[in-house]
Amino acid sequence: MRAVVLEADRSLRMDDRPDPSPGRGEVLVDLATSGICGTDLSIYSGKIAVRHPRVLGHEMFGHVASSDGGAAAGTRVVIDPVLSCGVCYWCSKGQTNLCPNGALLGRDRDGGFAERIAVPQSNVYEVPASISDEVAPLVQVLTVCVHAQRDAPVFPGDSVLVLGLGVSGLLHLQIARARGAAPLIGVTRSASKRELAESLGADLTFDPGDSHLGERVAEATGGRGPDVVIESAGRVETLAAAIGLVRPGGHIVLFGTITEDRGALPFYSLYLKELTITNPRAAKPEDFPAAIDLAGSGRVRLAPLISDTFPLEETGAAIEATAESGTLKIILDHGGVRS
Ligand SMILES: [Zn+2]
Ligand SMILES: [Zn+2]
Repeated sequence: MRAVVLEADRSLRMDDRPDPSPGRGEVLVDLATSGICGTDLSIYSGKIAVRHPRVLGHEMFGHVASSDGGAAAGTRVVIDPVLSCGVCYWCSKGQTNLCPNGALLGRDRDGGFAERIAVPQSNVYEVPASISDEVAPLVQVLTVCVHAQRDAPVFPGDSVLVLGLGVSGLLHLQIARARGAAPLIGVTRSASKRELAESLGADLTFDPGDSHLGERVAEATGGRGPDVVIESAGRVETLAAAIGLVRPGGHIVLFGTITEDRGALPFYSLYLKELTITNPRAAKPEDFPAAIDLAGSGRVRLAPLISDTFPLEETGAAIEATAESGTLKIILDHGGVRS
């Protein structure tokens, strides 16, 4: 089979490899489409270190080729890229996303930028026809957002504000809308993303550079501030803004990954407002059926989040395109060419 292999930082090569041979309890999947994530870009550029050679990609969709007593051949499936051991303390607590013996496909083991992959049967989930091949890789991104919102208390009528409207922020808005959030507020510098957010259900959108942002948000939320603020930019200053905007007694979901180890935050407000901050990581098996239902029913729309589609042969160009500002999701089409 063909596989796109990262041989060194920023160096990809189309390799011809033997097909993976599925072990006991595993399923072989013919991959049809993949999504490119910011994590792929970070690995490609060397910001996240991996052992080379490595096949990237953890947003995967395809058809079951064969399985050890599991899904029938031809079944359309998305793949959970998180592997866990099933026997450690965290797995026994259901915190499989934190398993210290676990691995992420496409980072710690070879992933989805290839024609085939073998994964445990328990890591594949059938998707309905209403989720097209092109959008299906986005289901994995949606599971991570679903996991993040599970611990955020959103009851119908609670106000939710999302800071940062990239792919994840736009998914968060739609999940919050499905949960009955009102008003639903999106904040981003990008005028085109504000427009897209409104078409996907945001009641109000603002530019973070607006010097009256705090007043406008307070005005829209009974003078209090939003019940829940979802930080989806991964920056210290955005977290600081979230602390400033959320209502006293409110909840902040720190969804964006902040890698800085220092920065200015209004720590006293954490106390004064008695805030709760959760910092969710990855997703759990329970998030796949929920995400598939949200996307399959149309309550979360994935197609508007796709910026472009590239053939597997142009993975390098596709990863570079992901780095351009304004780009949302880039999809790789594996083309169905078998070798
Ligand atoms: Zn990802
Ligand atoms: Zn474990």
